[in-house]
Amino acid sequence: MWATRGLKAILTTEASSRPQEDRRPLKRFCPECGERLYDRFGEGALRRFCRQCHQPVYENPVPAVCVVVPDPSGRILLVRRGVAPKVGDWCLPGGFMELGETPEAAALRELREEAGLGGRIDRLLGLRSTPSRLYHTILLAAYVVHPEGGPLTAGDDATQARWFPPGELPEIAFDSHQAFILYYLDGHRQTPA
Ligand SMILES: [Zn+2]
Repeated sequence: MWATRGLKAILTTEASSRPQEDRRPLKRFCPECGERLYDRFGEGALRRFCRQCHQPVYENPVPAVCVVVPDPSGRILLVRRGVAPKVGDWCLPGGFMELGETPEAAALRELREEAGLGGRIDRLLGLRSTPSRLYHTILLAAYVVHPEGGPLTAGDDATQARWFPPGELPEIAFDSHQAFILYYLDGHRQTPA
């Protein structure tokens, strides 16, 4: 179990906490015309630029969601990862948003896919910008969800789904998920601005 520590960082970006070279290289080719991109300083940052289209190719964080799902006795739902990264480690149910999907719908879909549970969105717990080796930067939204239905049935990217008492939580695969769990358990009831 982790010690509950300062959670002020919940609202801060983690984007600078990891060297850029650890992460996926930026786009190499223009998605419009296929021309090889080059680096050029513009609009206050070094950006990829297409000399055919005469414009920068913007790169943005990838939106993802996760859910903190407490049961009536206060236990927290975790799923065991069946895919890389961190195969075998535990984390919150979650995943990437699909095109055209609301973040709330994505949260409930991931809960259904990974744990076999329905649910009802209680509230947005918070947002974090978190570094990713594959996606460079992920914008992660966490929702508190009231579970409905059951029983737990692991599926999709998860090999197990289990309720854990707050005092018996295993090591969590992702710092961002761990931070959201601690933030929730710390009793924050307001949506961070
Ligand atoms: Zn181009």
